[in-house]
Amino acid sequence: LTMLKLCDVIKTYDGKSEVTALTGINLTIGIGEMVAIMGPSGSGKSTLLNLLGGLDVPTSGQVVVAGKDLAKENEKERSLFRRSKVSYIFQAYHLMPTLKVSQNVALPLHLAGVPAGEITRKVAQVLREVGLEGRVNHLPDALSGGERQRVAIARALVTGAPLLLADEPTGNLDTARGEEILNLLRSIHREHGTTIVMVTHDNHAASACERLIKLRDGRVEGDSYVAGGGR
Ligand code: ADP
Ligand code: ADP
Repeated sequence: LTMLKLCDVIKTYDGKSEVTALTGINLTIGIGEMVAIMGPSGSGKSTLLNLLGGLDVPTSGQVVVAGKDLAKENEKERSLFRRSKVSYIFQAYHLMPTLKVSQNVALPLHLAGVPAGEITRKVAQVLREVGLEGRVNHLPDALSGGERQRVAIARALVTGAPLLLADEPTGNLDTARGEEILNLLRSIHREHGTTIVMVTHDNHAASACERLIKLRDGRVEGDSYVAGGGR
């Protein structure tokens, strides 16, 4: 069962001179996989993540996510698609500084028009799952980096989206805090069957995944299943 399928994906950016960011990517990621994408700066990682999340479209080729070819959809369709199927976490957390933890986590449900009672129930449930039931009324500024990332993970989890894209999720955290976040992501992956794709420079984060895809110069340079990954 396939979550993501890229066929002959080319992405170029126009500018003073044309830049080819991805030069013919073929890739299949199954439902429930936990995958790390690594590669030097400029190798195309962000471009790939943007295509997987429907934030951008390829110059040519197909990007099929949960059965839908996003290359064929317009911005409005892709936005609707993103809201139901994809959630994101980032290195810098991207929380709303004026909203309490519970309000940050509730945000995607509010935007989706979910009834208030259901929001309250779901928010409480995911905050328990990420171990933040004692931080419900805090503002992000009052939290540690690891706690902020757990709020972001709760916000990603609350919609039930089957695909979680993570951009350097441990990038701002020390080793111990990073390890906690990786353990949490692994447990979400196990418990909910969420497909997780993370871009990372952190070897530790990559070894927490079951599969490692290496990009270089806009190509897949390596694609291997990690022995003992995803423990
Ligand atoms: P990575 O995330 O691995 O650093 P990127 O996907 O950001 O790689 O970039 C791949 C290539 O595409 C680089 O040469 C980069 O300069 C170029 N690039 C990325 N985004 C843009 C853009 N919006 N406009 C022009 N060039 C871009
Ligand atoms: P909207 O509900 O307005 O369509 P989006 O789904 O476009 O919102 O995006 C929500 C947030 O996630 C934005 O900050 C956007 O920049 C970010 N985002 C969306 N897709 C990606 C991606 N593939 N990689 C990194 N960030 C993303």
